[in-house]
Amino acid sequence: MAEYKGVMVHCEVAEGKLMAIATELLGCGRKLADELGDELHAVLTGSEVTGLAQEAIAFGADKVSVVDDLLLKDYQTDSYVSVMEKVAKQVMPQILLLGQTSVGRDLAPRLAFRLNTPDSLGCLELAIDPESKLMLQTKPVYGGNAQAIFTCESYPQIATVRSKAMSPLERDDSRQGEVIIIEAGLDPEAIRTKVLEKIVEEVEGIKLEDAEVVVSGGRGIGSAEGFKQLEELAKLLKGAVGASRPPCDNNWVPSGYQVGLTGKIIAPELYIAVALSGSSQHMTGCSSARTIVAINKDPEANIFREARFGVVGDWKKVFPAFADKVKELLAD
Ligand SMILES: Cc1cc2nc3c(=O)[nH]c(=O)nc-3n(C[C@H](O)[C@H](O)[C@H](O)COP(=O)(O)OP(=O)(O)OC[C@H]3O[C@@H](n4cnc5c(N)ncnc54)[C@H](O)[C@@H]3O)c2cc1C
Repeated sequence: MAEYKGVMVHCEVAEGKLMAIATELLGCGRKLADELGDELHAVLTGSEVTGLAQEAIAFGADKVSVVDDLLLKDYQTDSYVSVMEKVAKQVMPQILLLGQTSVGRDLAPRLAFRLNTPDSLGCLELAIDPESKLMLQTKPVYGGNAQAIFTCESYPQIATVRSKAMSPLERDDSRQGEVIIIEAGLDPEAIRTKVLEKIVEEVEGIKLEDAEVVVSGGRGIGSAEGFKQLEELAKLLKGAVGASRPPCDNNWVPSGYQVGLTGKIIAPELYIAVALSGSSQHMTGCSSARTIVAINKDPEANIFREARFGVVGDWKKVFPAFADKVKELLAD
C-alpha cells in the first residue's frame, strides 16, 4: 500500500473546455486529498488539451498529467484505457475518480480490471474514513430505494461520481501547479473501433442540467400534447422541461428529459413537479433542488413529502391557472 498515494481525477473535455463534471471531481478530489494530507493529480486526455492544464490547477489540482494526441480526439475504449492505465501506473494514486458519464462508465470498469482492483459506479458521496483512511463510497442500491456505503481494500480505489453530486471549488487562477507531459505511445492498429459519424443532439433553449428552473411532468400528463403546456411555462421562466420515466418511455418527450436514478441528476433553484408521484428513483435525480413545488391529484402522493409547496388537484385545471399567475407576476 505504501507506494499508492494521493488522489487522481480524470478530467473530461468537451468542445475545448473542461466539462462541469471535471470541475466537480476536482472539487471533491481536493477535499479527499486534503483529508489524506496528499496531492491531487488531474489527468487530461484528448487532442489539443494541453492548454487546459492551468484550468485544472485553478480548480484545485496540484499536478496535471497531460496526454495530448490526435488519436485521443474522440473517446475510444482501447486508446483511453491504454493511456489511463499508463498514467495510473506512473502516478500510483490511492484513489482514482472518474465521472459517471458515458465515458466514465465505459472506462472505469475496464481500467479497474487492468489495475486488478474493483470499482464503484455512480457514487453520490465520497469521504475518507478517519481510522482506516479508506474511501467511503456512498451509492444508491435496490433501484434507488436505499443508499449503501462501500469501502475497498485494494488500490487504487476507483469510483465514478454522478454529475451535480459534488461542487466545484471557486476558480483561482493564482494557484500554482506542475504540468507533466506524457506521451500516449499508442499503436493505431491496436484501436479496434472507429468513429464513423457524430450526430449532435440539438437542444433548444437551456440544457436541463444547467437550468435554474425545471418544469417536470409525469405519467399523469397523459400525452405529448400535455407537455406543450409545461414547455410554455418553462420558456417563460427561462428554464427547461424535465420528466419522470414513463413520459420518456412513451415517447411523449425525448429520453434526455428523464430525471432520476437512470436519468439526469439536477439541482435547480426551483423544481415544479406536475402529475408525477415522486418515486424514490425519480427523487434521486431532483432532491437537491432548492424548492420543489408539486401539483398532484392524490394527496397521499410521495411528492408532497418532498415538496415545499403543493396543490392537490387535477393538473389540467391547476396548471393553467398557475401559469397565468406566473405570467401576470412576470409582467408586473
Ligand atoms: C432501476 C429503476 C430505475 C428507474 N429510474 C427512474 C428514473 O431515472 N426516473 C424516474 O422518473 N423513474 C425511474 N424509475 C421508475 C420509477 O420507479 C417510477 O415508476 C416512475 O418514477 C413513476 O413515474 P410517475 O411518477 O410519472 O408515474 P406514477 O407513479 O404512475 O405517478 C403518476 C402520478 O400522477 C398523478 N396524476 C395522474 N393524473 C393526474 C392529473 N390529472 N392531475 C394531477 N395528478 C395526476 C397520480 O396521482 C400519480 O401520483 C426507475 C425504476 C427502476 C426499477
